[in-house]
Amino acid sequence: MLNKILIIGIILSSLFGKERADTQLNTIPITFAGTPFYLVENGHSAINYIWLHGDEKTAKMALDHHITLFPGKAFFIQNDNREIPYQSTIIDPNRLFSREGSLHALKKFKPYWAPGTLKKALDEMDLDRSQFLEKLMPEKDGLLIAVHNNSQGYNVKHELRNSQKMSLKYQQNPRDFILCTNESDFEKLAIGPYNVVLQDTVMDRDDGSLSWESLRRNVRYVNIETRLGYLIKQKKMLEFVSKSLN
Ligand SMILES: [Zn+2]
Repeated sequence: MLNKILIIGIILSSLFGKERADTQLNTIPITFAGTPFYLVENGHSAINYIWLHGDEKTAKMALDHHITLFPGKAFFIQNDNREIPYQSTIIDPNRLFSREGSLHALKKFKPYWAPGTLKKALDEMDLDRSQFLEKLMPEKDGLLIAVHNNSQGYNVKHELRNSQKMSLKYQQNPRDFILCTNESDFEKLAIGPYNVVLQDTVMDRDDGSLSWESLRRNVRYVNIETRLGYLIKQKKMLEFVSKSLN
């Protein structure tokens, strides 16, 4: 199975190089806001996957495993922290999927920008975002699946306020849940064993996350969120989502 997999990317770290000794390199770079991504492609499918927060290693390992078994394209950020370096600051890559979100992200760790420089950065980000999304977004009627991990605090209850439907399972830890943006996907996912919420309405206050941009584009999006360290759980959730929505 592994030799069916192609990695397209510019630079592979020695770590990835060792793991994927039998893969092929393509010279087309994939970057977003200056940070490279590498792409693992297994066969053909209308499902694309993304791992976006470099510190969420469980999600990375789960997706690494999943893409060897299920067809699709998986985009992996090449970064070790949640934030990525950008000019003289750092920014959360999952807050850059709108101009408004980018504005807040750029100012979060660098409140002061010299006159004109913030607008220039936002203009560049607009261009960069549209080029990246062109590669990332699945083909028509396809599905985009993001994998994330959480540490203390964040759980499904924080998403209920923005959700139109929910299916909470009392046996499940509230920190393990699936968020989706398509109602018929929700109905399929809700019959499974996991916590699921539906967010299919764009909110006034857009935080620049990929889920809202997917919703604006009418692209079916699923976020699989699990506790950091719960690798088997996240692998099972990925498998469940792929099998339920293929
Ligand atoms: Zn995350």
